[in-house]
Amino acid sequence: MATDEIRQVIVIGGGPAGYTAALYAARANLRPLVIEGFAWGGQLMITSDVENYPGYPEGIMGPEMMRDFRSQAERFGAEFVTDDVARVDFSSHPFRVYVDDAEHRTETVIVATGANARQLGLPSEQQLQGRGVSYCAVCDASFFREKVVVVVGGGDSAMEEATFLTKFASRVIILHRRDEFRASPIMLDRARASEKIEFVTNAVVEEVLGGASGVTGVRYQDVRTGETHEVDAQGLFVAIGHDPSTKLFLDQLDHDDAGYLVTRPGSTETNVAGVFAAGDVQDHVYRQAVTAAGSGCMAALDAERFLAAREGHPGTASTAPRSEPAEV
Ligand code: NAP
Repeated sequence: MATDEIRQVIVIGGGPAGYTAALYAARANLRPLVIEGFAWGGQLMITSDVENYPGYPEGIMGPEMMRDFRSQAERFGAEFVTDDVARVDFSSHPFRVYVDDAEHRTETVIVATGANARQLGLPSEQQLQGRGVSYCAVCDASFFREKVVVVVGGGDSAMEEATFLTKFASRVIILHRRDEFRASPIMLDRARASEKIEFVTNAVVEEVLGGASGVTGVRYQDVRTGETHEVDAQGLFVAIGHDPSTKLFLDQLDHDDAGYLVTRPGSTETNVAGVFAAGDVQDHVYRQAVTAAGSGCMAALDAERFLAAREGHPGTASTAPRSEPAEV
């Protein structure tokens, strides 16, 4: 069922990037439609205190911050569909975005579907999320002052998280499932040089131990001997990579080998003129709420410029000279 209206902007995704894009687009009178997904809020919905977002000197709970982002966009006229996008068609203009049996048509799309930290897939891991199990050391390390923490993984993320955690924790144990590391030598050497970091290799996590009061330890199996061991710890940082939420777009938008959307350097433009990407869906380096919000702002300004150029020079938007946005 197609709606009659052709939207100027549809934002797909309801995290820091999507809501910031919606805020800027709404303030530019573009009346954006945000298809925010059932699980709106993104990774911040499984984060407790956010202490590194500027403007919140006392910190703020992740879900509360996302509600604030959302209502700020709503205040200026953004509209929301709390559902998942089923399919997109960027092959002709206007673009088409399908939700259930509804077809939405639009001049521009901002893709801000984010990424998800990979999980170990253990029920105990899920139960203790936000109570000692974390996926972001930059966000949560300070809660583990003088505590023992375990980091799982053998890539650059694990080395980086473990090294960062040494600023707070008394001891950091890296558990890795093999005895060879994917991490780059420089990151590995930095972790090895720390007196606070220990390595346990050939170790597969079987269970996160703990209860209502939080994590108390980790049980793992040594895959060479088959023996199980327990280590006492108050925190578990899972650093086994991230997966961008890009399945819907892979056949239509350029992406790298890991599935992250590729944008033109210094902009949020994808390979399809009029489709922009912002936030973690195109950033596997910084992955912070503040950087996602910043790129959401860029995407809205890029969409606004695209629309202005299209009005002035029909059919030549992607090559039209850039004009300044109406409002910054
Ligand atoms: P990654 O390189 O894919 O490494 C993931 C690690 O987690 C691997 O050691 C892998 O083990 C392990 N792993 C995966 N699934 C697991 C599971 N179910 N259980 C236990 N262990 C599991 O991911 P990443 O470390 O996040 O890095 C991603 C990219 O970002 C890389 O290109 C990296 O260089 C880059 N990065 C760069 C920096 C930096 O330069 N500052 C920091 C972070 C990330 P196996 O090795 O056995 O597969």
